[in-house]
Amino acid sequence: MTLKDLAPGQSAVVTQVGGAGALRQHFLDMGLIPGTEVTVVKLAPMGDPMELRLRGYELTLRLADAGEITVTRDAAAHPVRESCETPAADTRHPGLGEGGRFHSRKDEDPLPESAVLRFALAGNQNSGKTTLFNQLTGSNQHVGNFPGVTVDRKSGVIRGHKDTEITDLPGIYSMSPYSSEELVSRDFVLQEKPKAIINIVDITSIDRSLYLTMQLLEMGLPMVVALNMMDEFRGNGGWVDINAMEQMLGVPVVPISAAKNEGVDELVSHALHVAKYQEKPLRQDFCDLNDHGGAVHRCLHAVIHLIEDHAVREDLPVRFAAGKLIEGDNQILSALKLDRNETETLEHIVLQMESERGLDHSAAMAEMRYAYIYKVCDRCVAKPRRSREHIRSERIDRVLTGKYTAIPVFIGVMALVFYLTFGLIGPFLQGLIQTGVDALQGVVEKLMISGSVNPAIQSLVIDGLFGGVGSVLSFLPIIVTMFFFLSILEDSGYLARIAFVMDKLLRKIGLSGRSIVPMLIGFGCTVPAVMSTRTLPSSRDRKMTVLLTPFMSCTAKLPIYGFFVSVFFKGQSWWIITGLYLLGILVGILAALLFKSLFKGEAVPFVMELPNYRLPRPMNVLHLLWEKATDFLHRAFSVILIATIAVWFLQSFDFHFNLVTDAHDSILASIAGLLVPIMKPAGLGDWRIVTSLVSGFMAKESVVATMEVLFSADALANLGRLTAASMLVFSLLYTPCVAAIASIRRELGRKWAAGVVLWQCAIAWAAAALVQLIGLLL
Ligand code: GDP
Ligand code: MG
Repeated sequence: MTLKDLAPGQSAVVTQVGGAGALRQHFLDMGLIPGTEVTVVKLAPMGDPMELRLRGYELTLRLADAGEITVTRDAAAHPVRESCETPAADTRHPGLGEGGRFHSRKDEDPLPESAVLRFALAGNQNSGKTTLFNQLTGSNQHVGNFPGVTVDRKSGVIRGHKDTEITDLPGIYSMSPYSSEELVSRDFVLQEKPKAIINIVDITSIDRSLYLTMQLLEMGLPMVVALNMMDEFRGNGGWVDINAMEQMLGVPVVPISAAKNEGVDELVSHALHVAKYQEKPLRQDFCDLNDHGGAVHRCLHAVIHLIEDHAVREDLPVRFAAGKLIEGDNQILSALKLDRNETETLEHIVLQMESERGLDHSAAMAEMRYAYIYKVCDRCVAKPRRSREHIRSERIDRVLTGKYTAIPVFIGVMALVFYLTFGLIGPFLQGLIQTGVDALQGVVEKLMISGSVNPAIQSLVIDGLFGGVGSVLSFLPIIVTMFFFLSILEDSGYLARIAFVMDKLLRKIGLSGRSIVPMLIGFGCTVPAVMSTRTLPSSRDRKMTVLLTPFMSCTAKLPIYGFFVSVFFKGQSWWIITGLYLLGILVGILAALLFKSLFKGEAVPFVMELPNYRLPRPMNVLHLLWEKATDFLHRAFSVILIATIAVWFLQSFDFHFNLVTDAHDSILASIAGLLVPIMKPAGLGDWRIVTSLVSGFMAKESVVATMEVLFSADALANLGRLTAASMLVFSLLYTPCVAAIASIRRELGRKWAAGVVLWQCAIAWAAAALVQLIGLLL
């Protein structure tokens, strides 16, 4: 029987993992290997995918993929290892702060004082990396991109240690790249060679986490293991023998709680020590001569000898390279440049091992690593039988992913988020800022009049700066509020559930549940949304998702909606804005159906961890909000400021650089006039509107800034509701801003980016023309 045949609540033991390629490797890396006990928790409300429990954590899997995994319910035939359940022998419990015992090098040959100690922070997703990173660096962090790719690269200086740099790597489960983010992490360690690795391990799912640890150890770089979430683990009665674990892993192990800032100082001192004295892991060999006749052990060592010279020449860690070769990693294979003889020998060695071990190469390697992990856990860890957090998560999930409740709750949560952002909190804060800006404007205006400042300058400051940048600035609160809610949804673990619940629906439009995450982020800003598609493991899904996210109305378009709604649709703002969002989604769905037939192939498999629900840490949220706010302010005072001044200049002067009295004679009017005939059928054939829309290409907020500069209140009111409706629809759908286009270009290349601009403008034009048509008929 296969996993698919199990009913919710039933348990079984895996006998065989079918399928092929990267997906299969990913199953194995996630701990789904022969001999593992799995329990089906539930099916998603729409019947697919399923939620599994194994090794103390929850995993999602599509039914089609579950059909590839053979299981047996006959427990006697396949004795399950009682992993991590038996308390170890009674050794003294080492607490926090007992100082580093485990160091192989004391004070010989330290790196020179001037050397910058560069650390990589590596760990599974949701293991607490960001929390620890924020604790370590405080505010000394900077965000950039990994060279050549658009994945965020956060680095910072460890508090109180000037000559250090720590980089937060994307969360990974193994060193076999499955998504492009995993590739980034692996390349960082292999190529940039940090002085040491801080490996953060979630003690509450210790066996799966150690799987990555073992592969990191194989890299041979100095390393410390930080056992995170100790507060939760101890609170549930869990128990770890740290000293024994250090012995077995060959590196210092430090119990910490990143969230409570416990053990972090100690972690830092160990990390500095291993980096400074370049203390390599004492152990890299986890294969066992007595395990199934030592087939894997002999195979590994034979390959190590075979490739040693190549690995040294190519500067790759030999133990790591050998393991990857056996797993069939083509990238490493080509990097090593083996000759034909050696490649053939390699194949023979692997074949021999497979026949002796009775497992294929990937499963055999995964099994070997897990066999050692069992030993470590048996010796050093006593897991709590019941974890309060898990019970709590199960209870919450009964509602949030329940058969009848999941979708109503999802809609309710999203509606609540939108209502709070646009109906309640946002406008309140916005009002405050607006009042401040207006007051300042009044003061400045008075000063300038009393000082009889040149009228052109007065106009620049009042119409240009205050009118333009000022009105954009007042949208800061809404943007920050939106990101606040999105980050809460993500940090709490709910976003992963949304992906689980919506997977089947998204498959209908040719995507997987994972694509919903970039799309939801797209409601905040298209730039990070496009970046976050990096977590999608197939290029087809990535492409489709990137093309769809711009239809999810971003926060920068809010000023446009707010502006028009407040003038033309007073009192109906909530409905109109919600309607626009829904329209964006609808157009996105139609576009997806089109893409689905264009891009052949299947959506990516849906293998994802469902973390326990956790209360988001205020510090993490604050850090994110600070980042977004400064980013926005930075743009308001750079791009938007320049755009506003340029627009002000072009509309104040004619081609002879004389100040015009009527903006209609200005340079701007003549240029924009060229586009006016095209925009006429869409109801937007006014040069001022055209100009505003063009300036929106720089940044969407500029549309409002430009309108403020170009329109007097009366002129605006004269436009009428129909024009306003066309304008809203057009702004919703037309080209994303330059920054978004730039990130699309980085993901998909120049041609696609240009295509997005053209095709979205065409769609927007058609939709706005449709609005006109409907308006005329009514
Ligand atoms: P990342 O995905 O690895 O960056 O992990 P995060 O730093 O975002 O943390 C994931 C979740 O675990 C967040 O909700 C954190 O608040 C929580 N968390 C992190 N460290 C600890 C800890 O030491 N104890 C507890 N109880 N929760 C933690
Ligand atoms: Mg993180």
